[in-house]
Amino acid sequence: MPAVEPENWQASDSAALYGVDAWGAGYYSVNERGEVQVHVEHEGAPVAVSLLDIVQGMRARHLDMPAVLRVRNVLDHRIAVLNESFARAIREGGYGNVYRGVFPIKVNQQCHVIEEIANYGRRYHHGFEAGSKAELIIALSQLRDTESLVVCNGYKDAEFIDLGLYARRMGYPVFFVLESLHELRMVIERSRRLQIAPLIGVRMRSAVKVDGHWSQDSGDRSIFGLSTTALLQVAAELREAGMLDCLQMLHCHLGSQVPNIRNVRSGVLEACQFYAGLVAEGAPMGYLDLGGGLAVDYEGASANTTHSMNYQLDEYCVNIVETVRETLDPLAIAHPVLVSESGRATVAYSSMLLFNVLDVRDCLPGPLPSAPPEGGSELIAHLLEVLQRVCAKNYQECYNDALFYRDELRELFHRGQASLRDRALAEDLCLAVLQRINALLPQLERVPPELESLPEQLSDIYYANFSLFQSLPDIWAIDQLFPIMPIHRLAEYPSREAILADLTCDCDGRIDRFTLPSGERSTLPLHPLREGEGEDYYIGVFLVGAYQETLGDLHNLFGDTNVVNVAVNPDGSFDFAREFHGDSIADVLSYVEYEPKHMQEQFRRVAEEAVRSGRISVEERQRILQAFRDSLQGYTYFEKEGSWQR
Ligand SMILES: *Cc1c(COP(=O)(O)O)cnc(C)c1O
Repeated sequence: MPAVEPENWQASDSAALYGVDAWGAGYYSVNERGEVQVHVEHEGAPVAVSLLDIVQGMRARHLDMPAVLRVRNVLDHRIAVLNESFARAIREGGYGNVYRGVFPIKVNQQCHVIEEIANYGRRYHHGFEAGSKAELIIALSQLRDTESLVVCNGYKDAEFIDLGLYARRMGYPVFFVLESLHELRMVIERSRRLQIAPLIGVRMRSAVKVDGHWSQDSGDRSIFGLSTTALLQVAAELREAGMLDCLQMLHCHLGSQVPNIRNVRSGVLEACQFYAGLVAEGAPMGYLDLGGGLAVDYEGASANTTHSMNYQLDEYCVNIVETVRETLDPLAIAHPVLVSESGRATVAYSSMLLFNVLDVRDCLPGPLPSAPPEGGSELIAHLLEVLQRVCAKNYQECYNDALFYRDELRELFHRGQASLRDRALAEDLCLAVLQRINALLPQLERVPPELESLPEQLSDIYYANFSLFQSLPDIWAIDQLFPIMPIHRLAEYPSREAILADLTCDCDGRIDRFTLPSGERSTLPLHPLREGEGEDYYIGVFLVGAYQETLGDLHNLFGDTNVVNVAVNPDGSFDFAREFHGDSIADVLSYVEYEPKHMQEQFRRVAEEAVRSGRISVEERQRILQAFRDSLQGYTYFEKEGSWQR
């Protein structure tokens, strides 16, 4: 039961219902018109833009739903706050060195995102972390200032190492973080051959176990990093090669989305001891890279749970800076350059997935008779009687009766002893009983366990224009929760409860876990579609900038979505700074090795044969071939009529 009567519902009630002020972190809110707006800052002055206005601009440009919307100002702001929070913690904590952030490219490799991070991040000397050759090539192509770091993780072959060494020769601080002794030997060999001294880091294996989704991968079972013995071996072999001066960085990555600040502190503490140990081994050191892990509060719950976090960015920075200073000062070790590889926290906020709803399947019965139809089954009469007597006192008995009579009728139907009409009526009557019971549940003191899932069973299915596998892979793969809500009509009471089904005909292509301030739920409150008005109903999935864009696959051959990068101006107007049309059907077909030209030719032959045999006219052939060509050029998602001409 809503605390507010549906007639008195206001935009602010929707804001509270969906929790936007908590997870939106100041970037998103609901305006009085009932639309979600995005907030940015220009020289400290706040500016807000309605997402619906942006969507209308997109439609006018034939950038149809589904689409990823990125707000450039939000990305810039994230880079700024990360760097400025560290700078403040360093200043206020009397720390004797600087912070140098690097963006881990794997978190969002999209060219426009990387370019923006390089351009905007330059003022902070924000660099890149590369985990593969392809990512190193991206990082090298973006290099512009010799103070931004490039940190190379992952397994490296000779080609990878040579590339890094050449960049080093050009004056860029490219670090090889070693994962194995084999890699060390290769780095030594290549750098001797090219006569270029490398910058070397070592990745330690932390024994700290972190909370959250990745807790399995942390601690002793981590598949990454060198054992303590191997670390000492690295130092020994470098010493022997006369290259110990190259060992300058310790790298420690506790895992992604670390929800508990105590884990961060323990991880840093342990890393400092390793750092000190390597200094004692005679390595010059100078850089302490604490990896990623800075979490995003997808739930807005400020809690130590998988999709939340029990700390703020400032607290994270202060904890790191203090722990390093307090651990190294007594050992008289100079403060290292602090490096972190925050991916998720940098890019999650700036992107959202927007889609429209195509259809709704509700769980409402059709028209019901007031008296049993003549000649109908006895069971129908019983069901009707149950429907007439259901109330808060007898609901459990009515529940059992309704299911019993319905199942009896199904049984008769199986044996050919009940008609299709009987069956339809029995299903509808049973549904009507269940709906009445469902409406009674909120008044009950105690809901019996077998009825707990009733709201979910009776909820609507909103068929939405997107592919979970392409655009929100982590919902499918790791049960990730993202904030999801309509982006308009929020001044209206959302009277329906629904799950979302995507366009793939896959039963996994659904969203039926939602996080709201009232707790995790299996259905989402939504508005009824407005029949016949041709008005779209738009839903946004927020904070999807991290990991979602390139993990997606071509399930059912739904391809990349349209992408729009918007830059908000100081006067509240916005520019479509970049736009990218998603895959056409021809594109996705060629990814699976079809040749659209060849397919057209094959289809042309089929059509020509139909002409020859007199099944179609030549004019019809032309129209059919045109439709085939248009489809090949069309968007892989559901297109509104007339929207495919691009
Ligand atoms: C994935 C990864 C990151 C990014 O982690 P976030 O939690 O997204 O900040 C950073 N460093 C390494 C080595 C990684 O593998």
